[in-house]
Amino acid sequence: DPSNGSLPQKYRLKNSVCIVTGAARGIGFGIALRLALEGAAIVALIDVRQNELDDAASRLERELRHTLGNEDTRIVFYGLACDVTKLEEVTNTFRHVAANLSPNNRIDILVQAAGIVGQTNRMTHQVEPEDFDLVMSVNVKGIFNGCHACLPFMLEQNYGRIINIASIAGKEGNAGMLAYSTSKAAVIGLTKTIGKEYALNGITCNAIAPAVVRTKMVDDMPEEQVKYMTDKIPMKRCGKVEEIAALVAFVASEEAGFTTGFCWDATGGRSVY
Ligand code: NAD
Repeated sequence: DPSNGSLPQKYRLKNSVCIVTGAARGIGFGIALRLALEGAAIVALIDVRQNELDDAASRLERELRHTLGNEDTRIVFYGLACDVTKLEEVTNTFRHVAANLSPNNRIDILVQAAGIVGQTNRMTHQVEPEDFDLVMSVNVKGIFNGCHACLPFMLEQNYGRIINIASIAGKEGNAGMLAYSTSKAAVIGLTKTIGKEYALNGITCNAIAPAVVRTKMVDDMPEEQVKYMTDKIPMKRCGKVEEIAALVAFVASEEAGFTTGFCWDATGGRSVY
């Protein structure tokens, strides 16, 4: 079954230096694995959940060796605790990756999956203003911070791939999820803008808009809200982490070079323009 990630094109991202935010679990974790299976030299795992990062790094190393066989024993994954809402932390962490982990002072690929859903299953007049601010700070400011920190490296090397995980909620709007839907629409606007600004610099910036994928984020949501989202999917199933990761790997590859400022849906048919 190619959709379960068992047939990666192992060397498509050979020697790339990658950063994945929100990589301690869920979609970010699955993306980190896929980038390594495609031949990435380094995958820096960024997450605010410090305790889970070390475990994630060793689980990923095991998974990678298991799939590739022990042909290659380099260390690929480095867990780096960092809160994406704090620009200074993000900048220092990215500089550390380029200066100390990257073999050539490069950052080739940035995938931003760190995100929170905030309060759900409530109408806009019931939304707590603090929750709105929190969701915007992680999902929008966090993505801005990552772009701001990696672009100087990408400009210097005249190459880069930025992939921001948005959501179909950002295109369609999910009732009961005002802050989240608003934040993901902002991610799409940011992505389109950066795509245009750096079009002559070898840098592409794209977004991915998944529908429901059964991760901890979704498991923690009220069942009613999950049903509302899942019922809208024509394929009548949730997406798999591997299906999102496979799309990210393609968009992160050199061969996807003519597409930028675009939002790719992975929604089982729940796509909108
Ligand atoms: P998840 O909660 O399992 O993982 C998110 C990760 O981001 C966690 O490890 C968390 O610690 C990290 N994170 C949160 N705040 C952070 C911060 N300030 N700094 C650094 N890391 C932080 O969720 P997931 O389902 O894997 O979601 C990943 C991304 O995909 C999110 O942006 C989410 O909005 C998006 N998305 C998810 C779905 C879905 O159905 N699961 C659908 C569409 C989009």
